[in-house]
Amino acid sequence: MRSISVLGATGSIGASTLDLIRRNRKDWRVVALTANGNAAALAALAREFEAEVAVCADPAALPALREALAGTNIEAAAGADALVDAARRPADIVMASIVGCAGLAPTMAAIEQGRTVALANKEALVSAGELMIAAVARHGTTLLPVDSEHNAIFQCLSGNKTEHVRWITLTASGGPFRDWSLEQLQSATPAQAIKHPNWSMGAKISVDSASMMNKGLEFIEAYHLFPVGLDRLRIIVHPQSIIHSMVEYHDGSTLAQLGPSDMRVPIASCLAWPERMETPLSSQLDLAAIGELTFRAPDELRFPATKLARQAAHAGGGIPAVLNAANEVAVDAFLNGRIGFTRIPAMVEDVLNAYAPPPPAAIDEVHEVDAQARRRAAALLEMA
Ligand code: NAD
Ligand code: MG
Repeated sequence: MRSISVLGATGSIGASTLDLIRRNRKDWRVVALTANGNAAALAALAREFEAEVAVCADPAALPALREALAGTNIEAAAGADALVDAARRPADIVMASIVGCAGLAPTMAAIEQGRTVALANKEALVSAGELMIAAVARHGTTLLPVDSEHNAIFQCLSGNKTEHVRWITLTASGGPFRDWSLEQLQSATPAQAIKHPNWSMGAKISVDSASMMNKGLEFIEAYHLFPVGLDRLRIIVHPQSIIHSMVEYHDGSTLAQLGPSDMRVPIASCLAWPERMETPLSSQLDLAAIGELTFRAPDELRFPATKLARQAAHAGGGIPAVLNAANEVAVDAFLNGRIGFTRIPAMVEDVLNAYAPPPPAAIDEVHEVDAQARRRAAALLEMA
């Protein structure tokens, strides 16, 4: 029997993770489950999985959480410190699946346990890359990538040395607006943006997929996870999302990982690693039915986000945290109808041009850069 905590249990990745746990209930003990403010949904999960502790990040949710857990032995807590404490509880594996830089402190706390962290929360790694990877090394933590592309690369690198890598190629579906003109993009609505053709995901990452910022963040994520250098990373659009990424070696061999577009596949790979577990897929990979796998180069004129992210990766230091924070504010503003879709990368670029902090030397400084970038982005919104 192994123990697990799920940070962001009420989200899309949290639900997929708990679905796998539910099907293998006898093999797992659930330690901590966390959510932002949805006390009712969190309490229901905590009851079902007999969690030790349930934590809402939002302190205002505590009374509702307490009430929903009345009559159980499950501890209820809320607030930023409680979230970090929950992440620190001993667990064999912690699923870090909070969305946004809000997940940085609990993810770091989980890493400092020195066990296994399955990382979905890419914004935390993008914002604190060097510091997070240094903490992984310092604490002897096993960091397993949940993001489907990075999980694919991780599998393709297994048994090989990174010094033999010629290219790591991240595949991108291109999102729902893949074939839209720049003019059409200008009037894209939130409802259209969150309707992804291949994947079912939370709202923020769905918008990131539509703008291609998701691939930009993933480019920076790959840079930190796989030490091959920025010049060996590239992006290709692959509309079918069947090949999840590839690694080409110096001898001309290219290894790829293929699978259906179901996050339970990479999540299962993390939960079972280095073993394998069965996943309950609605469909298995049927290449004859798919017929064709196609590829094309990314279009950075219509989707400038990947260019901005690449530039931020090359600049390094605090710049990726600025990119991420500005994007989080812009996506939120887009989802709330305050800005148009093409303003998202434009706002990110404006904030990057206005704010170039020195490299953060500690996690507190990353939080400071993140907060400062958010203030700049919010000020731009006020001016608009
Ligand atoms: P989601 O919006 O569905 O869920 C997010 C979770 O985080 C929820 O449990 C929510 O309560 C919690 N949360 C939100 N704001 C919080 C805050 N301020 N403090 C604490 N908790 C907070 O998101 P998701 O789609 O599950 O994505 C989670 C992470 O996984 C993201 O970083 C995303 O980029 C990454 N990811 C998701 C997918 C996918 O298919 N959904 C694929 C790859 C990577
Ligand atoms: Mg991905």
